[in-house]
Amino acid sequence: MKAVVCGAGIAGLSLAHELATRGDEVVLLERSPGPREQGYMMDFFGPGYDAAEQMGVLPAILDVSYDIGEASFVDSQGRSRARLPYDRFRRAVGGRLCSLMRPDLEQVLREALPSSVEVRFGAEVTDCVDRGPDVEVRTADGAVLSADVLVGADGIHSGVRRFTFGADSDALRYLGFHTAAFVFDDARIRAACAGRFALTDTIGRQMGFYALRDGRVAAFGVHRTPDPGLPDDTRTAVREAYRSLEWVVPEALAQCPPSEEIYYDQVAQVVMPAWSAGRIALVGDACHAVSLLAGQGASLAVAGARVLAAQLHSDVPIVQALAAYERQWRPVAEDRQASGRATARWFLPRTHAELWARRAALKVAALPVVNRALGAFLSGR
Ligand SMILES: Cc1cc2nc3c(=O)[nH]c(=O)nc-3n(C[C@H](O)[C@H](O)[C@H](O)COP(=O)(O)OP(=O)(O)OC[C@H]3O[C@@H](n4cnc5c(N)ncnc54)[C@H](O)[C@@H]3O)c2cc1C
Repeated sequence: MKAVVCGAGIAGLSLAHELATRGDEVVLLERSPGPREQGYMMDFFGPGYDAAEQMGVLPAILDVSYDIGEASFVDSQGRSRARLPYDRFRRAVGGRLCSLMRPDLEQVLREALPSSVEVRFGAEVTDCVDRGPDVEVRTADGAVLSADVLVGADGIHSGVRRFTFGADSDALRYLGFHTAAFVFDDARIRAACAGRFALTDTIGRQMGFYALRDGRVAAFGVHRTPDPGLPDDTRTAVREAYRSLEWVVPEALAQCPPSEEIYYDQVAQVVMPAWSAGRIALVGDACHAVSLLAGQGASLAVAGARVLAAQLHSDVPIVQALAAYERQWRPVAEDRQASGRATARWFLPRTHAELWARRAALKVAALPVVNRALGAFLSGR
């Protein structure tokens, strides 16, 4: 079978790995000119952790992961007002959780690709047509490819989804937040957040910082806004959105890199009535983005790609295999989406009362009795 995969992110790399390992011819098309540097710290656990182990990439993932002591919500002086010890999370999922930067996970997956996979960077997919016996795929540089199956692993704003199913607005469910992430050098901020993921304990907007092993600091911001529209000038928008925050935030914003080095997006889920049409299918965020609020998008991207590859090798026609993949994986993704929507209600306090309620909830979460419930929540059971 010849497969074209659009998008060399977490889902696309995982799918390419799984198909090529099973003997398929795979071309992986990625619009970025090279590996993407922009990223953020992610917790990796649940079905993707298990899938990574089965794919043989878990040791390499653990090698690049970070041992985060706690998430600490700090006041304007950097004093901790509430904390969430990470070992509670880890224990709640039987120790099967790690934290790592998204570019590091992508690098591990890229390096694990069988040499038969053809990876083309700077290859933006601009159109695709299901011609019945095959799929025709066009890229911005004029290339035309044909394949037995095309999989859109091209993220929340998927082009393959748009070309195949129509307007984006039908699929995106905006959750009321924008998010930004960037990395920069600053020894003082590094020291201020050493050993912990330090987040401002604030209303309506929040920034968090983590010291990376290469000497840099990873910054992450999230703020409430009713408008899903994305700004033209990302750096100015980030500085404007978080300028009211205190502690180390003003220094961090002063060092915010140029727009193209910032990750910036709306926080949204993708809800699709169908994940495939003919020989064209979607995987990962492209069909079931759960959002950062569910904290398992990367995990579902890896595991969902593995399910899709297995179904494509189940000796049934491609169209049936794609339907079986959706039947198997949709309930898992929908369950995580529901948990993401529930999290949206308390994630970022709107009032002082909600801020106090969150602090109280974090204290309760530290009690041993909560361990089993936390484990069940995190694992989606
Ligand atoms: C701030 C933040 C924190 C998060 N934290 C966590 C966490 O703690 N745990 C977790 O599991 N998940 C987390 N997530 C979610 C996770 O990052 C995503 O769910 C995951 O990256 C989805 O992977 P993907 O491969 O489906 O899509 P993406 O990572 O978006 O990759 C899509 C790829 O397709 C490429 N592409 C797009 N269009 C085209 C085109 N037309 N042609 C060719 N290539 C194209 C893009 O350049 C990109 O490389 C977080 C997300 C955010 C934003």
